Amino acid sequence: MKQISPKKPTRPKSSHLTLAIVLCFVLLNFFSCKKLEQLNPLKDHGSSPGQKSEPAPSLVEYNFDNDSNSGLMFQDGESMALLTSEARRYEIGKVLRVKAVDSTMIEVANFAPVDILDATILLTIEGQSKPIKLFRIGKIRAHAVKAIPYSFIKGSTKFLNTDNQVVDLAQYRTTGIPTNKVSFDFTGTTDLIIKLKSLAKLKWTIKYQDFDPADDPANNWKENISPKDVRRFTGLMINLAYMLQADTTQKAFLAEPITDNNKVLMTTQQKQQAFNSILNIPKFNCGVVVNVSGLGGGSTFGLADYLLVKYMTKNICYEAVHEIGHMVGFSHSSSMTYPTSDNRGAVVATGNVYMMMIAKGLLPIKTSNYYKPSDL
Ligand SMILES: [Zn+2]
Repeated sequence: MKQISPKKPTRPKSSHLTLAIVLCFVLLNFFSCKKLEQLNPLKDHGSSPGQKSEPAPSLVEYNFDNDSNSGLMFQDGESMALLTSEARRYEIGKVLRVKAVDSTMIEVANFAPVDILDATILLTIEGQSKPIKLFRIGKIRAHAVKAIPYSFIKGSTKFLNTDNQVVDLAQYRTTGIPTNKVSFDFTGTTDLIIKLKSLAKLKWTIKYQDFDPADDPANNWKENISPKDVRRFTGLMINLAYMLQADTTQKAFLAEPITDNNKVLMTTQQKQQAFNSILNIPKFNCGVVVNVSGLGGGSTFGLADYLLVKYMTKNICYEAVHEIGHMVGFSHSSSMTYPTSDNRGAVVATGNVYMMMIAKGLLPIKTSNYYKPSDL
């Protein structure tokens, strides 16, 4: 009500009649504005019915495609603390990650080892029903990271939401938006973005870890996980998740004879439960192993170096899906981990789809788009 009163009425010194007129004016104004607000919920409070509508707000565009407009994550020489930090955890469904640094700054980061073009960043502010199209990215290079201020701090405060209605963020211009009131996502129509978005079917959050900080030679963890390991691993996780989100994979998995920890064939319902458990794994702490092919259980997901090299061209399911089988509670007695003697089981079914996807060039991360040829 305060915002929509046209002027603060000065206290009338004259007659009661004047007071009544002023009050009427204020009330009328209040009701008429309220009506306008209901009709056009996203219009400025200040706009009046006679006012001409402004041209649609234009989307600010950024590029994070060179050393002057962005840094890079996971580069050689980066500290172990940063390489493995919890702040670097990302959701598999948001490998193009935007997060609030504080109320006025946001960080844009690409956790995929490939360039992403033509993305739109969406901002949801708590209490608003539709996300706002915050800005467009022309190009963000592989593993690029950059902190930028919200554009409305200095630029236009008008944005379009996903229904193309105008939203004015003027109220946040000086204060910014509290970090706990915002969430971000990305969208786009390119083949790569559509594939990356499909990974949101999985609940995985991923970070990289040095499981052997004391460098104990007796265990099977690599002494120091390297930035190159992490660079390669980011692509492996995308391809693995892409295979698992596909309907073809779920169908093949449910049709496959798979035994439980007691070597008994699982029912379709039990297989569906196991498959859902895989999609819903909340945490992947990824590390690199030596002497063995993998180590898995709980949120630990360790793979040998050779798998980080071959996942773009060869099957990794006998090791990767094996460890995931452990992560969702299956032992070596179950064909969720090792195939049975007649070569049936989860790793066979998923491996067949993975190989088909390689053959058809469907996996999102390939040798042709991976950004550092020297890693291959
Ligand atoms: Zn095992």
